[in-house]
Amino acid sequence: MPRVWVFAEVHNGKVDSTALEILTRARELEGAEVEAVVLGPGATEAAGPLGEHGATVVFASDDEVYGDYVAQPATEALYQLVQEHSPELVLFAANYDSRDIAGRLSAKTGSTLMSNVSVIHDLNTAQHAMFGGTTLVDVALEGSPKLVLVRPKSFEAAPSGGRAEVVPVQVTIGDELKKAKRLERHEEATTGPKLEDAPVVISGGRGLQDPGNFELLDQLASSIGHTAVGATRAVVDSGWVPYAMQIGQTGTTVKPNVYLAFGISGATQHIVGMKGARKIVAINKDEEAPIFQIADLGIVGDALKILPQLIEEVKSRKG
Ligand SMILES: Cc1cc2nc3c(=O)[nH]c(=O)nc-3n(C[C@H](O)[C@H](O)[C@H](O)COP(=O)(O)OP(=O)(O)OC[C@H]3O[C@@H](n4cnc5c(N)ncnc54)[C@H](O)[C@@H]3O)c2cc1C
Repeated sequence: MPRVWVFAEVHNGKVDSTALEILTRARELEGAEVEAVVLGPGATEAAGPLGEHGATVVFASDDEVYGDYVAQPATEALYQLVQEHSPELVLFAANYDSRDIAGRLSAKTGSTLMSNVSVIHDLNTAQHAMFGGTTLVDVALEGSPKLVLVRPKSFEAAPSGGRAEVVPVQVTIGDELKKAKRLERHEEATTGPKLEDAPVVISGGRGLQDPGNFELLDQLASSIGHTAVGATRAVVDSGWVPYAMQIGQTGTTVKPNVYLAFGISGATQHIVGMKGARKIVAINKDEEAPIFQIADLGIVGDALKILPQLIEEVKSRKG
């Protein structure tokens, strides 16, 4: 039976949620044996959630070398595992570390690496987004193994209740693979839910005029509850808010129940990161703004006048 592998990142003892989304899709692929590879501190423990989401086997190593050094040790271990077990397809989340490892593995195996995938049709074909997500093409996957980078939030993670057998990974990592040492990992401090997990996301763009006005989004978020605040690249690049808040092609992909966009024009690079929201509400003073083309509810008006009223309204309804 062809083996489909999911490479899972683990940070601070927590398995990356995109790996669980990909496993959920992989276990539905016809005739596939789904397995996972996880490297670094917390790997063995990660086998629990990985098994619950469809991996029957988890190749795991808790060796700190995979956390301490960037990409090279993990690529070497994965390469050796691939040589030994010959998976048909290896799926990676399109995250920083995984992108780095997938690219290096592609160079070592000579396989084509298909990036920006949001649909996996079967073991041989996937859908790839081009031109900022405006064009979708079906592509034939090639190589041995086939390598694919999957965009976060392409699938919904759902446990299947399974359990994985843990197979320890024993690879000797020489000093020549310890070239780039990770000195520090900075986690952006957030008080509310994570952007990618929040059921409601409120985002602000350049139309908010001033970084101080993001405070209004924070107030609205805390009055609604379970709500995260995001932003466009325009305001991130201007230094108004940290990159961790950026939504879009080069930021986070979100799929909340409700997405509220304040003073956002609706550039394709932004839309690609939020168009999966169940309901989109856009507030923009320009009735021609492209964001209205995908909005379920569009309000033409000044965000800075509407926001204080909305905060009061939500507060009064919540009592
Ligand atoms: C390779 C590449 C990658 C990119 N990746 C991303 C990405 O990941 N995420 C992303 O967001 N962008 C990304 N961009 C940038 C993107 O193309 C846009 O420039 C950006 O999304 C625009 O941000 P904005 O909507 O805040 O600003 P603008 O386009 O300037 O829009 C501001 C909007 O605010 C409205 N407005 C002004 N005043 C008010 C008011 N008082 N009340 C209400 N509305 C008001 C205006 O009518 C306008 O529509 C990328 C670009 C490139 C080239």
